[in-house]
Order: sequence, then structure tokens, then C-alpha cells
Amino acid sequence: MSQVERQQWDVVVIGAGGAGLRAAIEAREQGLRTAVICKSLFGKAHTVMAEGGIAASMGNVNDGDNWQVHFRDTLRGGKFLNQWRMAELHAQEAPDRVWELETWGALFDRTGDGRISQRNFGGHEYPRLAHVGDRTGLELIRTLQQKVVSLQQEDATELGDHEGRLKVFQECTVTRVIKEPGDGGRVAGVFGYDRESGRFFVLEAPSVVIATGGIGKSFKVTSNSWEYTGDGHALALLAGAPLLNMEFVQFHPTGMVWPPSVKGILVTESVRGDGGVLRNSEGKRFMFDYIPDVFKEKYAQSEDEGDRWYEDPDNNRRPPELLPRDEVARAINAEVKAGRGSPHGGVFLDVSTRMSADVIRRRLPSMYHQFKELADVDITAEAMEVGPTCHYVMGGIAVDSDTAAAVAVPGLYAAGEVAGGMHGSNRLGGNSLSDLLVFGRRAGLHAARYAAGLERRPVLDEEAIDAAAAEALRPFSAEGPAPGEEDGRPPENPYTLHQELQQSMNDLVGIIRRDGEMRQALQRLVELRQRARRAGVEGHRQFNPGWHLALDLRNMLLVSECIARSALERTESRGGHTREDFPVMDRSWRRANLVCRLADPAAARADLEDPEPVRGQIRLERVETEPIRPDLLALFEKEELVKYLAEEELYE
Ligand code: FAD
Repeated sequence: MSQVERQQWDVVVIGAGGAGLRAAIEAREQGLRTAVICKSLFGKAHTVMAEGGIAASMGNVNDGDNWQVHFRDTLRGGKFLNQWRMAELHAQEAPDRVWELETWGALFDRTGDGRISQRNFGGHEYPRLAHVGDRTGLELIRTLQQKVVSLQQEDATELGDHEGRLKVFQECTVTRVIKEPGDGGRVAGVFGYDRESGRFFVLEAPSVVIATGGIGKSFKVTSNSWEYTGDGHALALLAGAPLLNMEFVQFHPTGMVWPPSVKGILVTESVRGDGGVLRNSEGKRFMFDYIPDVFKEKYAQSEDEGDRWYEDPDNNRRPPELLPRDEVARAINAEVKAGRGSPHGGVFLDVSTRMSADVIRRRLPSMYHQFKELADVDITAEAMEVGPTCHYVMGGIAVDSDTAAAVAVPGLYAAGEVAGGMHGSNRLGGNSLSDLLVFGRRAGLHAARYAAGLERRPVLDEEAIDAAAAEALRPFSAEGPAPGEEDGRPPENPYTLHQELQQSMNDLVGIIRRDGEMRQALQRLVELRQRARRAGVEGHRQFNPGWHLALDLRNMLLVSECIARSALERTESRGGHTREDFPVMDRSWRRANLVCRLADPAAARADLEDPEPVRGQIRLERVETEPIRPDLLALFEKEELVKYLAEEELYE
């Protein structure tokens, strides 16, 4: 068996984005020896791409804002399917997390009187997003990295070893969470490989925090980067933890549509927050035709009123370009389908007629350069062409709201985009960066407390480590036939499999979903999974991207099946899940969470062949949501609750 290097830590955090770094800082501040592992270079997490800002009800620009209003907006955005306790903690703690960042050195844009500036965003009643131009994620990551370095300097002084209590393993991929031997065991560590050398390693630890981000690379058109292959979702499933409401995938309304090489790259919502308007090929501001009943009273009914709101928000209602993302994405999709799209299959987004060139370059510097360099479009003089792009997954690892502990696996925690529940069926812009900080801190804190409270360190399942190594090496010997198949078939190319998967998910489980297409998708996933067992690569283990992709395929296929199965099951349209055959939100579904588990936990062991590949890997269960606490319900008008809550909840 291959050589596997081993080290012992107290807490291992998988992922060095906002959630992972905040968790690691907290665990280290609790005095525990903490390791952070990331697939890319340190600092190159997905969080760095975040543009618009961090949502926190500091009330700096409009003092009407407070955590209760933020909570209300978050539940409305998520169409009341949010884990309400998470939404409550998030709204209450987000301001502290932003102020804390400032004390660690973050430099936010300021208001005229020197406070942290806050901007408007879709679905937020007041200007709420603390920001740094349109490069907020960069400042967030820079600040957290700086904090990591300062803690390491303290450790260098105290222990003579700057990595003694906090170490980052960059360009390393985790492929398995390892538990104690036996059924239902607790977490004992992680298995992974170093991308450059190809060497295997095991980090032993009683607590593991998964903070690996999202799943976008399962779809063809996406704003997500190469890292988003659903690894953390799959790691949790394979370790025995369930995933929650995976049907809810957010298609951001505004991605670039041209040229083809950059299709999907994000056009930040700040463009609309700062005054950008959407028009169709006839020049019409079509969003006024798409205000759903539940939002009618909150949005302007005429262009004049919408325009006045930017100057006088207390006496006017906001323009419908600032509806939650799911509404805007569906509207754009409908306009394009009706033949009123732009030349390259999107619609027009214009700031050039709304702000001076100087202001555009100052407030939206990245967008200005992005369009100039990638599409040769000057957004200070012309409209952009935009269309929906797969952006974020609301579904994720089912966690305890207070502690971020994963359900059913002691010692496993999850935070950030990989965790489910906080955003319900649709996330509001800006609520991810605040989620990372609030629940990253909580995950680090509770993972540390759990590890510190154990009487003995868990024992690693040695067979599971051998199986994980065999699984990782399989692509190098894929020329042999899979069990039950003819001899002599050539290995499958992982890149081809990936493209076929992305195309299938885009076409069959995309923004508008239909029963027959989702069944077709599930069938294709079975075929792809069988072929993926023969995904083969040439060469050796030193930096071999084909090998890395062959291993990532397992994760994307698992996650895609969760999305397709849950989407087929939920026969209503809600938030990020739109069914053409069930076009309205059905209140009776409000109480239903869809939970995905591995169908056959024994087959999760890397060395076992899948006995019945056709059946699929996922078992779906309906679990009733906990009733929302009465004092939180009291924050809403009764007439509004009638639109969302199930009949029996209203009586209760
Ligand atoms: P990430 O920041 O992606 O970090 C994931 C980490 O996990 C990485 O370090 C990665 O290398 C590591 N990893 C993954 N798999 C493995 C593995 N198997 N082994 C080891 N390491 C692994 N949200 C907002 O609130 N406001 C915004 O303005 C905003 N703008 C956005 C703009 C863009 C273009 C995009 C794409 C998203 C935006 N979002 C925004 C969403 C937000 O950025 C993400 O949801 C958030 O950054 C996710 O953070 P995270 O810590 O969960 O994951």
C-alpha cells in the first residue's frame, strides 16, 4: 500500500475561504492546535471573488435598520424555508462580525461622516451591505489572512514555532473524512493528497470543520471557479451526514453572456443596487411586469417612483430590478424565451445613462475592467448584455443551528456555502459573506470545545485509510473492465465526462425544471457514474490535473444526483427551484425539508463495488421543519404570513 504521511492536530478545517479561515482563527483562539487545508493557493478561495458586500444591519446609512428587519428580509427572500434559528443568529451577530473585521484591519468604504458605508442590494429593505468598491471579498480574505499571520507570530514568540498552533496546508485536496472503526463512529481525521507531489497524507483530529464552498462546476454556465466541485457535500454524505434541500440552487440573474469563453462570469448585483436598469430588446424596463403578488406592496409600480427611491427611499418604493435574485432570473429567462432578448441571448443592463463615467469607474471598478478587457464593452457608455448563471447552492450539509455540528456524525462541523438551511429556498445577496463570518466563528468555537472535552482521542479506521488510498489510485489503472462489463473497453476521459455532466445539469435540471427532463437527468447520471468508474489518466501523481478531475467527478456526480432527486420530488416552485409543471408556491410544502442520505452506507466504503448502480446512490426523505418561534413570527404582519405559512401553522 502507498505511503501515507501522518500528523496529529486537534481541529482540522477543510477550506480556507471566509468560513474556513474564520473557523480556524476561532479554534486557534480557543487554544487548540488547528490545521487548515485548501485545494488552491492560500488566499485564492472563492470568497476572494465576492464583489458587492457583507450584509449587516449596522444602520449606518438608514437608522431604521436593525436585526429584526434583516431577519424579516432573509425569511422573505428564502420564502420562509430558512432554518429560522440560523437566520436569527445571523441577523443578530452579523454587525459584530463586521466591526470585528475592522478591528483586524479591514478598510471599508466610508460614509460622509466617516462610518462604514452600506449599499442597497436586492431584497434588503435598507442599504445594508458593507463594501470595498466591488472587491469586498478580497478585503475580507486579506484581513483574515492577516489575522492568521498575526496569530502565527504570537505562536512563534511563545512556542518558537510559528506553525505550532495554526498551520495552512495549501494545494492539498481532502478526499475522505476518516472515522473510528465500526458503524456510527465519530470523526478521527481526514485523508487527502498533495496536488503538487501527489503524496497522500492523513491528518488525525477529533474535530473536522467542512468549509469547502459550493457546487457550481456541475453546471455548464456558472460564476463559480474550478474549486466548486461539491467536495464538502460529498465528504459529508460519505461520512454518513445528511444533506438538506439540495434542490435549491441559485441562478444569479446577471452573468456575462458574451463572448462564449467568459459566459457565466458574474456581473455584480451592485450594478443594480447603484442604479442600473434592465431593458429588453424593445427598450422596455420589463421588471415592472414581473412583480409577484407577495412583493407587490414593497416595490415601485412606475419608473418615476423607482427612480425617485434612489434619492428619497423613505417616501418611495424600490425599483423591481432589486427584487430577490430568483424573481429577476426568471423574468430575464421569460423575456429571452419570448424573443425580446439581446443579440447574444441575454437582456441589457445599463448604468451608463444613470451615472457619470467617473462615478461608474469609482464605484464599480472591477465591472468596468471586466467588460473592457473580456468583452470590449465600455460600461460607462454602453449597456452590458447579461443572463442567468449558476451561482450559489442554498442546500447543503444539515447542521445544528447554534453549534454548526453536522447531523449524525460526532466531531463533524460545517460552515459557509457548504452548510444548508440558513438561506431557505433563495439567498439574498450579501448574506453569504455575513453567513461565513457568523457560522465560521460558531463552527470553530464548537469544534474546539468538542475536541477539548473528549477524554481520549479517537482511533483511526486503518482499513478506511487503505480503501481511501486505493480509491484515489484507481484512475491510474482504469484500463481494466469494470465488474460485469466487457473486456477491453478503453478508459473514459475525465474531461469528456465532466462536460457531459455539466451539459446535462444545465439542460435538464437548470433554471426551469420539468418532470420528464429530471427523470432523464437521473438516468444520465447513472450512465455517467458507471462510466466514471472507468475514468482513467496517464502519467504520474506529480501535478496531474486530469487525475484531480477524475477524483472530483465522484463528488460532482453525488451532488448532482441529490439536486435532481430533490428537484423532482418538490412539486412546487419556490425560490431557486422553479417547476414549469408546478409553477406556483404551494404553502403545504413550507413545512417540508428534503433530506438526502446515502442509499447504501456500505457502498460508501471506497473499496466496495456499487452492487446496484442503476438504483442510484441517494435515498430521499421528507422531514418536517420545526415551527417558527412565536416572537419571531410576531415580526410579520398577519396578512403576510397567510401568503407563506401552511394552513395548519396558521391555526397553531
Ligand atoms: P470558499 O471561499 O469557496 O472556500 C472554499 C475553500 O475550500 C477553498 O479554500 C477551497 O480550496 C477549499 N476546498 C474545496 N474543496 C476542497 C477539498 N476537497 N479539499 C481541500 N480544500 C478544499 N456573497 C456575498 O455575500 N456578497 C457578495 O458580494 C458576493 N459576491 C460573489 C461574487 C462571485 C463572483 C461569486 C462566485 C460569489 C459571490 N458571493 C457573494 C458568494 C460568496 O462569495 C460565496 O458563497 C462564499 O465566498 C463562499 O465562501 P466559503 O468560505 O463557504 O467557500
